[in-house]
Amino acid sequence: MHSQRQQALEKKSVFISCVVPVYNEQAVISDFIASLRQCLRTLTNRFEIIVVDDGSRDHTVEKIQQLPKDYNVKLLGLSRNFGKEIALTAGIEHAQGDVTVLLDADFQHPVEVINDFLKQWANGYDMVYGVRKDRESESRIKRNFARLFYWIMQRMSSINMPRNAGDFRLMDRKITDAIKQFPERTRFMKGLYAWVGYKSVGVTFEVKERAAGKSSWKFMRLAELAITGIASFSDIPLRVWSMIGFFISCIAMIYAVYIVTVTLLYGADLPGFPTLVVAIMFLGGIQLLSIGILGEYIARIFTEVKQRPKYLLRIKEGFNE
Ligand code: UDP
Ligand code: MG
Repeated sequence: MHSQRQQALEKKSVFISCVVPVYNEQAVISDFIASLRQCLRTLTNRFEIIVVDDGSRDHTVEKIQQLPKDYNVKLLGLSRNFGKEIALTAGIEHAQGDVTVLLDADFQHPVEVINDFLKQWANGYDMVYGVRKDRESESRIKRNFARLFYWIMQRMSSINMPRNAGDFRLMDRKITDAIKQFPERTRFMKGLYAWVGYKSVGVTFEVKERAAGKSSWKFMRLAELAITGIASFSDIPLRVWSMIGFFISCIAMIYAVYIVTVTLLYGADLPGFPTLVVAIMFLGGIQLLSIGILGEYIARIFTEVKQRPKYLLRIKEGFNE
């Protein structure tokens, strides 16, 4: 099979699908598509570029529609801003290539790296992900939160998520098909990529500065994504409470025995109000926290049982069917 892929690569017959999610990228999108196209043409004779507009509020869509006709860009326009995870999903569901490449439109994911991805794919890897060389360009706080998040994920879930790997990656047809089957609406793509398994390998690349425009990632949005990640790939937060409850009950039992003994030996008096207050507040806090965490999972169940579509399309241009 490796040699088959190798041959296809040499003959430039690998059908490459590129999925590019865009949200308010009018400043960069035209240049980006031009440079992506140029790069793809050196790699293969068959490719498609699927641009997914994630409900942009600027002139991104017009810019894409104004691209030369012979670019054959395929455009999917979501009916509103659904977020990058869903935009990627929409693109993946429409990709027809032998391999699917996901990349951002802001030039932060260098198009030249696709060549390295393809070489690894030809070596027999089904998933080739980009690994950021360093996160120096990001703020210290963001880096520390990322570290904490990976640490939690490592311990709490059975999936093994490579560090510093993002959405920039190449996947074989069988992974694209696998991801198409995931019905969930609250999506954490990085977890899904890891969940499917198969032979994977990382390729390091240097993150460039955003070419123009500004990043649309806010702290709260990242935090939300992190919670989605943990809640969709781990049930430990749900189960840990029985352990904590058991532990606290044991301590309470020991304390009860102690109180009884002391009362029997020295008679009853009425000390211990501070202990009482602390105990009540501690337990109250723990109970609220655990209910909150239950709520987190129930909210997710709620969104899933509603069975709403993952996204709605406003525009679908350039597809044959
Ligand atoms: N993006 C999107 N929907 C959103 C936010 C971002 O499709 O709601 C796209 C955006 O246009 C870009 C990519 O996702 O192509 C990465 O976004 P951004 O550069 O803002 O994030 P960062 O690189 O800072 O993580
Ligand atoms: Mg970016």
